[in-house]
Amino acid sequence: MYDPIDLPEETLALKGLARQLVTRFQMPLEERMLQGETLTWEHDLPGTAAAKEAGLWGLTLPEEWGGANLSAFDRVAIEEEASRSLVPLKFGGTVFGGLLHGSDTQKEEYLYPVLAGTKRYAFAQTEPGGGADPGRTIRTTARRKDGRWVITGSKVFVSNVTQADFLIVVAVTDAKRRQRGGITNFIVDKSNPGLHLGREIQTIGGMLLHEMFFDECEVPADAVVGTEGQGFHDAQFALTNARLGVGAASLGITGRALEMMIDQARQRELFGSPLSSKQATQGYVTDSWMELHQARLALYNAAHRVDQGKDIRVEASMVKLLGTELAGRVLDRAVQVHGAAGVALDNPLAHWYGMQRMARLYEGPTEVHKYQVLARKLLA
Ligand SMILES: Cc1cc2nc3c(=O)[nH]c(=O)nc-3n(C[C@H](O)[C@H](O)[C@H](O)COP(=O)(O)OP(=O)(O)OC[C@H]3O[C@@H](n4cnc5c(N)ncnc54)[C@H](O)[C@@H]3O)c2cc1C
Repeated sequence: MYDPIDLPEETLALKGLARQLVTRFQMPLEERMLQGETLTWEHDLPGTAAAKEAGLWGLTLPEEWGGANLSAFDRVAIEEEASRSLVPLKFGGTVFGGLLHGSDTQKEEYLYPVLAGTKRYAFAQTEPGGGADPGRTIRTTARRKDGRWVITGSKVFVSNVTQADFLIVVAVTDAKRRQRGGITNFIVDKSNPGLHLGREIQTIGGMLLHEMFFDECEVPADAVVGTEGQGFHDAQFALTNARLGVGAASLGITGRALEMMIDQARQRELFGSPLSSKQATQGYVTDSWMELHQARLALYNAAHRVDQGKDIRVEASMVKLLGTELAGRVLDRAVQVHGAAGVALDNPLAHWYGMQRMARLYEGPTEVHKYQVLARKLLA
């Protein structure tokens, strides 16, 4: 498909490398998934190992941390490519920012293993009282007791719990200050006897989420991630980074859905001519292509600003919103062009339809980005 964005040669080479890995390791997994096989996170390991071997590990992390030390620009280009498979290629070595500045013990036990890919974690922020406004709705507390911390409360809709070795839990440590210096992040081992996993929540996108309870859950003093009281700030920083990734992934999926839509429109004959000759279909295709181009420009612009050391909280919100909303629209059109074949579970479109519906909720729902971040920036 014609790409109106001229990416630099070096970025194209990295994208090409990612595509080779996706074709070799992820597309066969996609095929197995389309045949009805339930894949686990362990199925991703060969592709991740090959990515590591090829120098694509911890994409933007510095070399001393074992990372590839790539620019954010190259990172989003690779992530866009990696998501063209229903089973995206994973690059590992990404860590929650606060862990980078932990104590030596914390680094040995958590940071280095996460960087090396031998330990995994889940991030537990959302609570039953609402996740869109965590600064106001978090009820989980942590209080000091005999030189340790005691966490009490519950979390819900947390992903990656099955494969996690530990959790990063967001808790209120000063109820008066809350998001302004009263929220702290804690490391809680999954084996901690004060942590009880509750419901397993199946979702339309196939992702398994968990509910969990902290019942007088004791952790050592150095379980604090980053600085006490700065947890809300650290979590928002981590989410800004993640939002760029969600935007890139959504646009990778959108690109493939558009290509599938074009192929189908060319092949299918109806009422005496190919579907591609009908103006309604041409409208679906051209609208999707133009909107994809616009959203990709926003993505690459945001990444470029990261590389210039600029604050991209606003741009990350824009990219996340544009990418996930666009993927929803384009998948809907692609399904329509495919007819019933588009909702059959042997077609990636049907799976993405559910997965991308969820992407408009996590890493901040659309409305939070639009009204709490973008409108505030323009109108406050
Ligand atoms: C697949 C998936 C994975 C997830 N993984 C994790 C995880 O790993 N860790 C974690 O902590 N959480 C996770 N979540 C939870 C996610 O972060 C929350 O679902 C999200 O923050 C929204 O919170 P909520 O579901 O409680 O909805 P609520 O907070 O109840 O919000 C409901 C709706 O209100 C609307 N809304 C919000 N603000 C406004 C506004 N200003 N104006 C108008 N409407 C508004 C939005 O449409 C929003 O969807 C995950 C969710 C999903 C679906």
